Formats: sequence, C-alpha cells, structure tokens
Amino acid sequence: MQDIIIIGAGIIGSTVFYELTKQPVSVTILEKNLDAGLEVTGHNSAIIHSGIDPTDGTLKAKYNILAVPIYEAYCKELETPYKRIGAYVVAKHPDELDHLYELQSRALKRNVPVELLTRDVALQNEPYLSDSIVGALDMPTTAIIQPTHLSQQAIKKGVKNGGVAKFDTKVLKIIKANNHFEVHTNKGVFESRLVVNASGLYASEIEQMVSKPSFNLHYRRGEYLVLSDQASYVTSRIFYPVPSPLGKGVLFVPTIDGKFLIGPNALDVKTIEDNIVTEAGIHEVKDKILKMMKNIPFQYEINTFSGLRPRVDSDDFILSESPYVKHFFNFVGIESPGISSAPAIAYDMVHSLLIPSLNSLE
Ligand SMILES: Cc1cc2nc3c(=O)[nH]c(=O)nc-3n(C[C@H](O)[C@H](O)[C@H](O)COP(=O)(O)OP(=O)(O)OC[C@H]3O[C@@H](n4cnc5c(N)ncnc54)[C@H](O)[C@@H]3O)c2cc1C
Repeated sequence: MQDIIIIGAGIIGSTVFYELTKQPVSVTILEKNLDAGLEVTGHNSAIIHSGIDPTDGTLKAKYNILAVPIYEAYCKELETPYKRIGAYVVAKHPDELDHLYELQSRALKRNVPVELLTRDVALQNEPYLSDSIVGALDMPTTAIIQPTHLSQQAIKKGVKNGGVAKFDTKVLKIIKANNHFEVHTNKGVFESRLVVNASGLYASEIEQMVSKPSFNLHYRRGEYLVLSDQASYVTSRIFYPVPSPLGKGVLFVPTIDGKFLIGPNALDVKTIEDNIVTEAGIHEVKDKILKMMKNIPFQYEINTFSGLRPRVDSDDFILSESPYVKHFFNFVGIESPGISSAPAIAYDMVHSLLIPSLNSLE
C-alpha cells in the first residue's frame, strides 16, 4: 500500500511527484505513455509568462506569480534548461494602447518589472515588428523552458529519491474501499490511501471512475507552425499581441533548441480526437502573425503541431479534494499558465493539501 498514487505524468503530476519524494511518504505515479510530458505538456508555447496576464484573485494569477521568481533555481535543481529571453506585448492599433497601460499598472501592483516602449524604440530594437505597430510593453522576466524535459527530469530525480514511476500503465478502473483506493491498470492493481487525478485531457474520465462529475471539461485547440534555427536572425525575444478574451493570441516564440514557434490559434473542439493540424488553422496563424510582424521567413517552416487546452467552466485551475470522494484530489483544468505555475502548484499542493490530508488519516 502506497500513501499516494498520482495519475498522469504531465508537468503537474511529475512536479507534484518530485515534491512528494522529498517528504517521508510513499508515492507512485502511473502514466499511460512510455515517458512523461508527452501530452498537453509537450504541445504548447513553453513560456514562463511574467504573471501579469491572469485576472486578480484567480489561482492562475496566484501560482504564476509565485512560480516566476523560483523558476530558474527550480530548473537548475532539475538540471533542465531555462532561458530568460524577455518578451514584448505589441499594440497594433491606438485603441490597444489602453490595454498596454492596464497591463503596465497590473505589473506594477504585482511587482513585475515592465517598461512601456514607444513605437520607434520598439521598432529600433526589433526591426521585424510591423511598421504599423503603435507601442509595446517590454517584459524582461519572461522565459522559456522545455516542459517535456522538465517533467522527465522531475520523474528521474523523484525516482532517485525513492518514488516509484510506472510507465505504459493506463488506469482503467478505481475502486474506493473502506480506507484506501484500488487503482486497476493494464499492469495490475495498485493501492493507496490518497489518489491525485492529474490526467490532463482525461480528467473527467478518471474522476468518473470514482464519482459523479464535479466539473465539465472542454477542449480548446491551438495550432502552430515551426521555423528552423535558420530564422535565428529575426529576434531572440517573444512577441505577444495584446491579449483578448480568447487568450494570449498568436505569438512568435523562440524555443530552447533554437527554433521558432508561431501560434497558437484558439478553436473550441468537441473531442480529444480533434487534436489535429488543419490547413485553415495554419492559414489563420500566418495571417494573424503578419498583423504584428513583417518579413517573416516562412521558407524555413519545418513542422506543424497542435495542442488542446483542458478548460473548465470557472476558467481557472481546479486544485482541490473532490467534493464527493474524500482523499481523492483533482488537479485539473490546467490550461495556460500551467507550465508557468507548476513548481508553485506542486509545492503548495503537497504542503497545504496532500500531507495534511495524509496526517489526518493517522
Ligand atoms: C496551445 C497551448 C499553449 C500553451 N502555452 C503555454 C505556455 O506558453 N505557458 C504555460 O504556462 N502554459 C501553457 N499551456 C498550458 C500547459 O501546457 C498546461 O497547463 C500543462 O501542460 C498541463 O499539464 P498537465 O500535467 O495538467 O496535463 P498533461 O501534460 O496532459 O498530463 C496528463 C498526463 O496524464 C496521463 N493520463 C491520462 N489518462 C491516463 C490514464 N487513464 N492512466 C494513466 N495516465 C493517464 C496523460 O498521458 C498525460 O501524460 C499551453 C497549452 C496549450 C494547449
């Protein structure tokens, strides 16, 4: 019998696993794929956002802000790359300037360093921005990581600390016994006193193995195209448009391995099987980036991919015990800024929720 079973080795399950292995508890993580971080965690922009975007009072804001100052040291501890490359939020029309001022004042309140740039200064620094831009907000603390590698390192180091990781192990059924759970998989039955549901896009399926639904999960697709490192002369920064209610918009993002991502768009889809790249989606992405930039070397396109955002009705993370089943925890609805928030979520969930819950059983 383990103290805790975590279902899902995305960035959330893996970092919670690693944090738990530093505590005097037994923990097993079950992952249906052959390695960690291959689903939502492997299909995104990989940005550590500065923390000025999420709305006040949300868990998204709380954990993004808490994680930014510790992220570099956390990556060092996990021996995974982290690069603080900075970003510009770019206003394309005069009516977007108000939004830049709003972001600037939110940054001030949250102690995030930013600087408002005139059009001329922004263009001088970044000549591939469109001539029609009207200003930009410089966010020097924005960074990039490799989320799949970070998750794999968290598992590797957690296993060194004594945790157990089982890959190619799909959870098929969960039985709640008197004071423990039986987790049935294709590789046998595992028992634990607590269960953490960190299964990303499959979170409803896992919850409904133990209870009626406590949340509705929706999927929002984002498509990208990838440019090779031959485009490296364009910039070393991230460019964001001014955000809209649908999200952060189509970005230009350098990657840790020297490539560039252009995307994502945002389309609500019905099923996980809708996680595909479409011609229309890539067309939309190209169209939108050309409103913010010019002379993009699309001839260096080498790939496309898509990812699905797991969203819940509250538009915020769910990080809590199930309202229906004691000692069953849902860490779900983790869309952006999930990557940016992961180390802070892991620390807080372990120390404020999971360890106290285990102690209450003793
Ligand atoms: C287009 C897009 C762009 C994004 N950009 C950013 C960004 O720039 N910055 C940022 O901070 N965030 C970003 N995000 C959000 C971020 O990617 C997610 O918040 C994060 O990856 C969610 O991680 P997770 O661990 O919850 O889910 P996942 O990574 O999906 O992990 C869940 C794991 O559970 C496993 N699993 C599922 N069912 C079972 C089962 N039955 N048995 C065993 N294992 C199971 C899956 O195989 C998977 O490995 C973006 C997301 C998208 C889609």
